Amino acid sequence: MAQAHPSLFTHGSGADPAPVGSQRVPVLLPMPFAGPFDYKAPASMALQPGDIVSVPLGNRRETGVVWDTHNTLPPDLARPPSGKTVADNRLRSVAERLELPPLNAELRQFVDWVAAYTLSPPGMVLAMTLRLHMKGPTPTPATGWIVQPPPSELRLTPARQKVLALMADGVARTTTDIASAAGVSAGVVKGLADAGALRTVLLEPERPFAQPDPLHHPPVLEGAQKEAATALRQSVNARCFSVTLLEGVTGSGKTEIYLEAIAACLEQGQQALVLLPEIALSAQWMDRFTRRFGVRPAVWHSEIGQKARRLTWLGAADGSARVVVGARSALFLPFCNPGLIIVDEEHESLFKQEEGVIYNARDMAVLRGRLAGFPVVVVSATPSLETLANAEAGRYQRLVLPTRHGGASLPQTHLLDMRAAPPPRGLFLSPQLVEDIASTLAREEQAMLFLNRRGYAPLTLCRTCGHRMECPHCTAWLVEHRNRHVLSCHYCDHTEPMPAVCPTCKSEDSLTAIGPGIERITEEARQLFPDARILVMSSDTLGGPAATAEAVAKIARREVDLIIGTQIVAKGWHFPHLTLVGIVDADLGLGGADLRAGERTIQLLHQVAGRAGRASTPGRVVLQSYTPEHPVMQALLSGDFDQFMEQEAEQRRPGFWPPYGRLAALIISADTPQAADEAAAQFGRTAPYGEGIQVLGPAPAPLAILRGRHRRRLLLRTWRSIAVQPILHRWLGLVQVSRHVRVEVDVDPVSFL
Ligand code: ADP
Ligand code: ZN
Ligand code: ZN
Repeated sequence: MAQAHPSLFTHGSGADPAPVGSQRVPVLLPMPFAGPFDYKAPASMALQPGDIVSVPLGNRRETGVVWDTHNTLPPDLARPPSGKTVADNRLRSVAERLELPPLNAELRQFVDWVAAYTLSPPGMVLAMTLRLHMKGPTPTPATGWIVQPPPSELRLTPARQKVLALMADGVARTTTDIASAAGVSAGVVKGLADAGALRTVLLEPERPFAQPDPLHHPPVLEGAQKEAATALRQSVNARCFSVTLLEGVTGSGKTEIYLEAIAACLEQGQQALVLLPEIALSAQWMDRFTRRFGVRPAVWHSEIGQKARRLTWLGAADGSARVVVGARSALFLPFCNPGLIIVDEEHESLFKQEEGVIYNARDMAVLRGRLAGFPVVVVSATPSLETLANAEAGRYQRLVLPTRHGGASLPQTHLLDMRAAPPPRGLFLSPQLVEDIASTLAREEQAMLFLNRRGYAPLTLCRTCGHRMECPHCTAWLVEHRNRHVLSCHYCDHTEPMPAVCPTCKSEDSLTAIGPGIERITEEARQLFPDARILVMSSDTLGGPAATAEAVAKIARREVDLIIGTQIVAKGWHFPHLTLVGIVDADLGLGGADLRAGERTIQLLHQVAGRAGRASTPGRVVLQSYTPEHPVMQALLSGDFDQFMEQEAEQRRPGFWPPYGRLAALIISADTPQAADEAAAQFGRTAPYGEGIQVLGPAPAPLAILRGRHRRRLLLRTWRSIAVQPILHRWLGLVQVSRHVRVEVDVDPVSFL
């Protein structure tokens, strides 16, 4: 399999001998070129693959990485050879080698494979691993003070005496540290320095990552938990590639168990990475980790700030960051000694990055484990069909925790047939659900209402002429946000003031809100329960991670009676006093032509339901549905997730839908509908065919216009035994599109919008 493929890249190396006394090296730049460019470097620089260098490009300087002259892609993933070799005498020189740890061979190989799998330029994948603003100034090392004999007679005040007594141990300290430890002002320190009693020294570089202690606070495990923890520890100790699915109902202790796998990884001196779908919402997770290991883990996501990014990147590279918890992009950190990746909530579509390099972090985590030879653990209460099929086929080991920890029972589920007992006109909570909330609040327990829709109403309609308020840039209705008196598009940045008259027929007071968003449910709840302390949890009301953490803490402290939220509330929170969850619109999400609509709905609703009754008082879940006979509703009612997934499998198998076949989407977009149609038609005419290969489309995308661009889709579907990448390469090579047309390739699509 590990077959060398010569000259895959534009400026393939090795064709000509390098000039005497200098070295010819391919350098991959974090940009959308087809491959590395060759540069020359003086022999004295002695560059090795992985070295991070600064090179000229046009009239700029860019940071890149010395790449390998041959890569180890399997034939299926290899790119068609292209390009020419630049003559030696026209090569430009590497400007300098940067003082940064080199990217190791494992990571370089991973970059090449991800690029090849997703049909992305390798430089764009490299950009994800170089996400550290290396061009910024290197932080100056901190300086501190140590004592030295003063040159002449030193005036000794009591404050100065305190400082000298403190510093007598010879330890170097910063001004701030001295001032606070000796209880004096910074001026005293400065005075002593001026008098020659202290001299400056460079402090050791900051070691920002405290070392987690695997023995700090281990849990007591019994039964299935113990078996699962033992099995995971064995996988980690084996130090070779394996994938394990850790499955169990919400509250069964999955997190507790995979922390044991991390402990095993720490015990053997390796690094562990935990991928969470939404790290910004993980305050409770951090506390759990800290309780188990005594210190906080290193964190990686888009909001941590430049300095933290740099430290985490370097900590991953030098091994001092022993456990990193992060969003999907953490997968591209340069770990020097990785021993384990955990993918928590593996079924989450947030692991799929939909822009730039379109990749699925769960699947690429498995790839990284395979290339570098370490275990990967994927965790879920409701695993994806892809993962279940892998377990079924024996490719993944499967560990199941069947019951909630500590005897907590799973919530009882009730289906409310909204056709039989509808809410009053213009309202959205049925009498039964209202009664349930009232009695829950009367018992001084907490209740939650879930609706996965931000804003006040998803549609604003003119009662006189039927005009619908739509986004001028997208095929989408504008959503009313009543608090802010605006209509806004949830697909682009467009926002406009709520009009007073209908834009078409000019009728006054004729625009009507249709359907509920959570603002409208909140309005209804406030009228029904005027005394209840209501907390709204959505991205509109919670400004960021800190506000979210504070909201969650308030709920845990019991300062809230009724929580009303969007999918934010489904994120693994532990709310011990919550005993009732009402799903306002269980059918939402079942519409549309998404292959995984049913699977997705059941995963989300199960996750929301799992917030109820996690402590001793049993929980109740009420589903409001207009289609109670739907298999998704029936599965939620019976709790038989396995059976539902078997039915899903039976439906997907005959048509070779994933995971029983492969999919890749082409999304073509252009400024005008004509240009989009024309390009799409060309792809249609040149579509691949053959046994086990089929192309659906071209067709307008469901989001036919997005941010002013007209979008068309084609979908390639093949048997599982057929690799899509070579087919896509050939296909893309047959069509020349104009500069104004963009073609995006989405291998293993999750979104069909
Ligand atoms: P899951 O990740 O499956 O939802 P958790 O790991 O969050 O489950 O466990 C649910 C709750 O039970 C948490 O509060 C956790 O601390 C507690 N718990 C689980 N297993 C144990 C154990 N063996 N000892 C002590 N507490 C446990
Ligand atoms: Zn009108
Ligand atoms: Zn829009």
